[in-house]
Amino acid sequence: MNFEQTKTAENLAKTIVIESLNYTNLKYATEIISKNKSINNLLIKISKHDFAHAKIFIDILTKKTSFNIESMQLIVDLSLHLGDIENLLLKIAQNKRKLALDTYTNFARIADEEKQEEIKDIFLNIAKIKAKQSNLLYNYYKKLSNNNLYNPNKEVKYECINCGYTLKAKSPWKKCPVCNSPQEFIFSESFNIESNPTTEKSCFNAYEICKTKKITNKKLLDLK
Ligand SMILES: [Zn+2]
Repeated sequence: MNFEQTKTAENLAKTIVIESLNYTNLKYATEIISKNKSINNLLIKISKHDFAHAKIFIDILTKKTSFNIESMQLIVDLSLHLGDIENLLLKIAQNKRKLALDTYTNFARIADEEKQEEIKDIFLNIAKIKAKQSNLLYNYYKKLSNNNLYNPNKEVKYECINCGYTLKAKSPWKKCPVCNSPQEFIFSESFNIESNPTTEKSCFNAYEICKTKKITNKKLLDLK
């Protein structure tokens, strides 16, 4: 079968739209929550990864088909604009979780059926990265909505993103004692580490489920 006629080629084209939308939406989100530098940095980092993912898929597709990126037009999901920072983070985390546990795992299953071994692995590896992205965003969402981003009830190391000042304490400064930056400039590794529902393992469980049942496991997708 001609590669252009495979479902996998079609799925690759879809991923480019998905990743570009992800990238655009994250760029957009960074503008909305530019105040909180720590979340902002995370969103910028993730948006760069999404951009790289789009590039990976574009490269495969242009190498294997007559696909032309110039013909694609992209839009921003304006629904992101609704709601507060917490909800914005939750929405993006949900979206990543869906990619990890549904979209990309299904694309991997189809690629496997069509004997596109290499592309299957790329889909699965990127699903894993999406799961990680979902976790990071979900952690922030949880901490912000429980009001304990800066009150973890244990001693952790904080860093001022602006000047680099660090402090190990139970709760950080309101204003950086060195550069006067507000609390939104504080970053801590503790923001990123906590048990989370979207794990690499759940990714592969989802893959196994869709491989055998060939359906979406709706139960896995619910995040909240
Ligand atoms: Zn500072």
